[in-house]
Amino acid sequence: MTDAVHDFARRIPHDRLPELLRRMPKAELHIHIEGSLEPELMFEMARRNDVKLAYSSVDELRRAYDFNNLQSFLDIYYAGASVLQTEQDFYDMCWAYLERAHADRVLRAEIFFDPQTHTVRGVPMGAVIEGLHRACQDAQTQLGIDAELILCFLRHLSEQEALDTLEEALPWRDRFIGVGLDSSEVGHPPEKFARVFARCGELGLHRVAHAGEEGPPAYIWSALDVLKAERIDHGVQSSKDAKLMQRLAQQRTALTVCPLSNLKLCVFPQLAQHNIRQLLEAGLAVTVNSDDPAYFGGYLNTNFIEIFAATGMDAGHAYQLARNSFEASFADAATRQRDIERLDRFFAEFA
Ligand SMILES: [Zn+2]
Repeated sequence: MTDAVHDFARRIPHDRLPELLRRMPKAELHIHIEGSLEPELMFEMARRNDVKLAYSSVDELRRAYDFNNLQSFLDIYYAGASVLQTEQDFYDMCWAYLERAHADRVLRAEIFFDPQTHTVRGVPMGAVIEGLHRACQDAQTQLGIDAELILCFLRHLSEQEALDTLEEALPWRDRFIGVGLDSSEVGHPPEKFARVFARCGELGLHRVAHAGEEGPPAYIWSALDVLKAERIDHGVQSSKDAKLMQRLAQQRTALTVCPLSNLKLCVFPQLAQHNIRQLLEAGLAVTVNSDDPAYFGGYLNTNFIEIFAATGMDAGHAYQLARNSFEASFADAATRQRDIERLDRFFAEFA
C-alpha cells in the first residue's frame, strides 16, 4: 500500500464506510457455486426436474438454515444440490451468482465447484463443467466480470475417488484453472490427498485447500507443505500458532476468510470476536469472501459491511483487503495490475 493511498483511505470517515465497501472494486476467491443456490431457484429446479425436496416451501427451507457446526450445514447443502440435473441448471445457478457478484463490484471471481456431489447422482461431468463455464463466458462478455472455475475434491471421500474424479474431468482441463479441497474438515487432514494434489501440480493446475476453519493449525502446515497449497481457504485457526502466523505473513500466503460463514457455523460466537482484523494487522494476506452465500446470510458486500461494523476496521483496512484479493488471484500479471490500478483510482476519487 503506498503512503498516498494509505492517507486517502484513513481520511475517509466512518459514516461513508458502507458506501465505500459497496462500491470498491474487489475479487472473490472463496465461493462454492452450489452454496449460491437460493431457495427460490432450488424450488424452481425441483419442479422442472421432478425432484422431491424434504421441505414444503421456501420459508420452511430457510428456517432450516440454523446450523451449529460445519456438518449440520453440509447435510442441508448436499440435499439442496440434488435439484441440479442438467447443464442449464448449472448455467442458471452460476449466472445468478455472477449477476449478484457484478452488483457487488466484483471484477474477478474464482468459483469452486464440487463435481462429486453431482456425478455420484449420475449427472455427467460435462453437464456440470459446460454449464458453469458457459455462464463464466457470458459474464465476461455481458457483465465484464472475469470468472474462472476451481474443481474441488470432497475430503470426506477417499483419495482414490478424488483421483478418479480428476481423470474424469481431464477432457475439460482447459475449463478450470485449479483444484481445491472442501467439505468435512476434522478427521480428514490435507495429507490424505497428497498424491492427487501432486498429480494436479504436474498438470499445471493451481492448488488451494480449506484448512484451519474448524481443524487445527497442523492442517494448515500440511496444506502448505504436503499439498503445496498456494492459498489457504479460511485459515482462521492460524492465530493459535505464532510460528505459522509468521510464516504466512512472510510468504504472503493468502487466507480466504469468510466472516458470515464463520459466524453461522459457530467458529466464532459473535462477529465482534472474529480475528480477521488481528490477522490482517499481523501482515497476513487476508481477503474477505462469502463461502456459501445463499446459506450464510449474505453475498460479498454484506460480508464486508457486517465484519467492518463488528470489528471497527476502517478504510485503510478496506483498501488492504481489496488489494490482497487482487494480488492473491490467479489472474495473469497484467490483469492483476489493471485491477489494482482500478482500485487505486477508485480510492483516490472516493476520498
Ligand atoms: Zn468454503
